[in-house]
Amino acid sequence: MDNMKLAKEKVGDFLAKLGKERFRVPQETGGSSRFAPLNGESSVDFTLSNTTVPLKSLFYPQTETLYRYEVGETAMKAPGEADEMIIMGVRPCDAKALTIVDRLFSWDPKDPYYLGRREKATIIGLACQEPRVNCFCTSLGGGPASTEGLDILMTDLGESFLFQPLTEKGEKICQEAGDVLVKSEDSDVQAAEKVHKDAASKIVRKIDSEGIPEKLPQLWDSQIWKKTSEPCLGCGACTFLCPTCHCFDIQDEIEGLEGRRYRVWDSCMFKEYTLHTSGHNPRPTRRERTRNRINHKYSYFVDKFGVIACVGCGRCINLCPVNVDILNILSQVKEAL
Ligand code: SF4
Ligand code: SF4
Repeated sequence: MDNMKLAKEKVGDFLAKLGKERFRVPQETGGSSRFAPLNGESSVDFTLSNTTVPLKSLFYPQTETLYRYEVGETAMKAPGEADEMIIMGVRPCDAKALTIVDRLFSWDPKDPYYLGRREKATIIGLACQEPRVNCFCTSLGGGPASTEGLDILMTDLGESFLFQPLTEKGEKICQEAGDVLVKSEDSDVQAAEKVHKDAASKIVRKIDSEGIPEKLPQLWDSQIWKKTSEPCLGCGACTFLCPTCHCFDIQDEIEGLEGRRYRVWDSCMFKEYTLHTSGHNPRPTRRERTRNRINHKYSYFVDKFGVIACVGCGRCINLCPVNVDILNILSQVKEAL
């Protein structure tokens, strides 16, 4: 399908034509941002960088009821079917992160809650123009206009957005929009390429990941882990807000004869995460927990799923209250190899 163009003054028409209730867009509330449904009050702000709360929360919410039950009964009441979603304004690193999380939830057993939502979602990405100071996506195979995980790539051309459909789902959205979109010119594509190139040149932080996955296990007893974990408070922000972290706990809540089983995000940076009922804890200090976080992303996940579980979004660096910096840790790992 041809590339299309959406005039900025027609964004409202685009949303209306496809049905506002289907959209999830970046929104800022109380100093943090996340993707949320449009309601009467909300406006669309495509100038936000990647949201504080990553895209995973739409597919794998922080708290989710898996099913309800009655004590003594065997029948479980499963939640209903997932809503259709058009998620618009997704930054390329977050879309790529979703393809990483897909590997986990499509593994064994397949997760019907996550996959049900994934099937019903169309993702419209927005190329970055002003990468943040701690972005390092280009070191991990991504980039400000990377298309992995997207159905459409949108690029801000000033007065309009260029729409480049990438999948059947993306083409369907462009067809549904009808004459709200117009065909783009060659000059629009050239302008978009310049935007992409300029943005990539603004990314200053880098890491050469070559050799890290294979050699990390050799650094098991290295002083790096003690040194880099010393400031850590164990707050879990780096994992809760990481777009590729996916650990959860499952709990039950029972009132009278009715109960629900639900899952909640969990973090390997919490001391209790690995605490055994016996009182033994195989990761008793920050040293072991930090070592695990880096090994999981840069070694164990690669062994299991063939890809590094980090997209270089920089969130864990930007949001850590004590400036623990994954790139500094990785640089020390590189030096030690
Ligand atoms: S965000 Fe920083 S302080 Fe909090 S757990 Fe992660 S590394 Fe530790
Ligand atoms: S580890 Fe940090 S930089 Fe990598 S994807 Fe997670 S939050 Fe982003």
